[in-house]
Amino acid sequence: MMRRNLACIINYGCQMNEYESSTVGKMLTGAGYELTRDPDEAEVVILNTCTVRDKADQKVWNRLEHLLPQKRRSKGEKKIGLMGCMVAAQKEALMQKHPEIDFLVTPLELSGIGRILADVTARRFEDYSVYEHQSEGEEVSNNHIYMPIQTGCNFNCTYCIVPSVKGREINTSAEEIISKIHSQVQNGITEVTLLGQTINSWRHEKMRFADLLDLVASRFPDVWIRFLTSHPVLFENRILDIVARYDNLCPWFHIPAQSGSSRVLSAMKRGYDRKRYLELVSAMREVPGACLSTDMICGFPTETEEEFQESLSLLKEVRFETAFLFYYSERRDTKAAAMEGSLPEEVRKERLKRMVDVQREVQTKRYAEFVGQEFFLSAQAISRRDDNMLKGKGQNGMPVLFSGDPSMLGKRFLVKITDSTSQSLLGEIVS
Ligand code: SAH
Ligand code: SF4
Repeated sequence: MMRRNLACIINYGCQMNEYESSTVGKMLTGAGYELTRDPDEAEVVILNTCTVRDKADQKVWNRLEHLLPQKRRSKGEKKIGLMGCMVAAQKEALMQKHPEIDFLVTPLELSGIGRILADVTARRFEDYSVYEHQSEGEEVSNNHIYMPIQTGCNFNCTYCIVPSVKGREINTSAEEIISKIHSQVQNGITEVTLLGQTINSWRHEKMRFADLLDLVASRFPDVWIRFLTSHPVLFENRILDIVARYDNLCPWFHIPAQSGSSRVLSAMKRGYDRKRYLELVSAMREVPGACLSTDMICGFPTETEEEFQESLSLLKEVRFETAFLFYYSERRDTKAAAMEGSLPEEVRKERLKRMVDVQREVQTKRYAEFVGQEFFLSAQAISRRDDNMLKGKGQNGMPVLFSGDPSMLGKRFLVKITDSTSQSLLGEIVS
């Protein structure tokens, strides 16, 4: 049953979306709504959409089929709006299929969402940017935040819809980044993950990304700083020197390879080949304690079985601690969608299955090597399976389960790894 004054944001997709959803959440509470996780009981429901693969679109179409009848039953009192990348890609289709949706906000229109919400709900809303900056006095239930420092993307990978929905790269100035981190730190935040599609291409006036890391790390010595996503092009080795130099720069790199075949990488227009990629990840491995994660796509148009095998061999060679594996999904108006040689879905799915198996085997062995090692982690959540266990995230990005109680949440500990699976490490707190 719908209840007045309740609002719900359902988040799909990436960390950038999580950040935007939490900011819009603050706007809604600022306007007097209470947030709920249950969209069925909410008076206002916002779907923050993703469109990077077709599956993401499908989830939203399905959700709308479920929610819109509730809106009809409420005689229009329930308000349903969409924001995020799928809106930019499918605005026409959404309006045509579901004209009763109350509002559609593309990523480039996001700064104006306050006015739109005010129109739809007849309440007063502050601007999006107000909540992006404001954090004083706000309750922090968590010691970690994502912080976008770059929006959009200037690359043109042939499979990818992101540049067309997010627009060109725009970088936040160093002063603004410092001031945002400063207010979050006053609020109790102790871990910040800087976000951007190709974050190492960040530059502002004379500063490059390595300079920014240097500045942020020295300005906030007690804050753990992470960053994602790194792109192999324009990744200066100076970034690695700086990460190695500061204790508070976390030695974890998310560095998508996408493919292990130089021929496929060139068809994807990624701008590097297998050799260059391997050189870069070995330089990353030189950073003490470094852990690596990647994204891979299998079944790109024209990918042969041999070329796919090169992706498998890359996974075996690099031994990523984590890998996000996808089968190719055709996106409208991308160069790859117009290519000949697209592979049947069964082939793409079958390759994905084999890739997942290889990575599981790699990870099982890799995680076993952590047993006996010690590193710092922060306690992040209570385990869903066992109340007496906590989930932690290593400074190196590794997930660790250990026994503990809720008073430990948000704090840092030295942990010793005692056991492992293919997905996680088990540890004991040393101090
Ligand atoms: N900017 C990041 C990627 C952002 S999209 C980078 O360049 O690495 C996140 C991931 O989704 C990509 O790394 C890629 O692996 C995957 N992806 C993007 N488009 C895709 C598509 N059309 N089909 C399948 N996976 C895709
Ligand atoms: Fe997409 Fe390539 Fe830009 Fe990443 S770098 S967002 S994959 S176009």
